Amino acid sequence: MASEDPAVLTKALESLLVEKGLITSTRIDEIVKNYEEDIGPMRGAQVVARAWSDPAYKERLLADGRAAIAELGFTDPHGAELVVTENTDEVHNMVVCTLCSCYPWSVLGLPPTWYKSFAYRSRAVSEPRTVLKEFDLDLPESTEVRVWDSNSDIRYMVLPKRPAGTEGMSEEALAEIVTRDSMIGVGEVARGSAS
Ligand code: FE
Repeated sequence: MASEDPAVLTKALESLLVEKGLITSTRIDEIVKNYEEDIGPMRGAQVVARAWSDPAYKERLLADGRAAIAELGFTDPHGAELVVTENTDEVHNMVVCTLCSCYPWSVLGLPPTWYKSFAYRSRAVSEPRTVLKEFDLDLPESTEVRVWDSNSDIRYMVLPKRPAGTEGMSEEALAEIVTRDSMIGVGEVARGSAS
């Protein structure tokens, strides 16, 4: 009986493509990297930039993430619920999947390796502030940290705080400074940060 584990099937398919000379391992790595760092997070960044620029859109996004994100043409093929949580000076949200690696693929692409690690999955819940410090995010004690545990039915994405000094920026320019980590909640957006 063939394995039904998607990881095993994927690896088998990759081996076959490489063996037949249809694709090189390097090219596969490039494609994966592209999904991890470019395609996926760029969609989320567009969602964030729209929410920062359009208060009515932001309201819809926080009320029904999946529907508001679908307005931009991004849908989850599995139809999972997508909840967007807003970071403020009072509350900081971060996302984890304690069980495996559930992640809002439709807006962030492939999860980074650390997101899938046992260390992150367990420590994000047991010692979130320490984990955030390791990501160079030192929050004031007065900020409440909320950790959202994803599963196959509900995925979470963080709406990061809009940095000061970006008032005059276009939606397009804003999308360029939104980082993947800020939408997982392990980073903040800086005015000059590149995504
Ligand atoms: Fe999971």
